Amino acid sequence: MPEAGSTDAQCKICQSADLEIFEHTAHCRGCRVLLYWPYPKSDDELIAAGEKKSWPVANALEWYSESSFLNHANFTQMLRYAADESFRGRSLDILDFGGGGGQFALVCKSHFPEASVYITDIFDDALLDEWRAMNIQIPFADFADDGTKFDLIFLNDVFEHVSDPKGVLKQLAEKLKPGGRIFIDTPKQFWLYPTSKLSSKSLYAKILRGTVSIYHLQIWSRKAFEMVVATSGLTIEKYRETSEYTMPASFYMRNMGITNPIVKLAGSLFYRNAKYLAKNKIMCVLTKK
Ligand SMILES: [Zn+2]
Repeated sequence: MPEAGSTDAQCKICQSADLEIFEHTAHCRGCRVLLYWPYPKSDDELIAAGEKKSWPVANALEWYSESSFLNHANFTQMLRYAADESFRGRSLDILDFGGGGGQFALVCKSHFPEASVYITDIFDDALLDEWRAMNIQIPFADFADDGTKFDLIFLNDVFEHVSDPKGVLKQLAEKLKPGGRIFIDTPKQFWLYPTSKLSSKSLYAKILRGTVSIYHLQIWSRKAFEMVVATSGLTIEKYRETSEYTMPASFYMRNMGITNPIVKLAGSLFYRNAKYLAKNKIMCVLTKK
């Protein structure tokens, strides 16, 4: 495990050793990515952390009943960004990589009834019984050797979680059919990060606490994202930065440990107007070079 100041302390995206360590994060001055620090070297640590967390079904349902209302619209927007009406009537093979509870398959099948929607997730048990019927599950342990090829691969809020983003993209590129597309939607840093870093270290620390963790290993910069794509044999077909949240405002403030009512009010106003104020997500479509 790299330590601050040690010789093997380097950015996993661009290999720069020019890292600014603050709290539990490292900000790379080379590619500008914000990393959870020290970062896990493999998925094993993530699986161990997930098992320690052990999420009872009732808690998972509570989470999904809070997020799925927003996600129904988010998923529709994502799917229509990656696939237009020219995809109708085809027996598409679609993969929801890191699909968790499996809600995305419902939105896919609603648009494209002939499609087969596959799901794989580092936590196989995350697939909810309520949504299982729409999904063909590939156990995560079997995924690398599985021979299925896909027309569309979706990574909705996944690319910030994976320990080896380069490795994941290379693997997924190999699993595309000719002309296939990969959709990625993942958090990026926006102006609040550098401005709070300059103006209020305590607010900056709260933002980091709310957005960077063992579950959110990298918050992208455009430069870091483009570097990863370039090394994976893929090219960016469509790219935009957008504002998108999967949970209500109270959830994010709870995570940041914000209790002061005035700060909470400011947070709610920010959240409600986020589409005008902050582009917090990368949304893009990748194809093979
Ligand atoms: Zn870097």
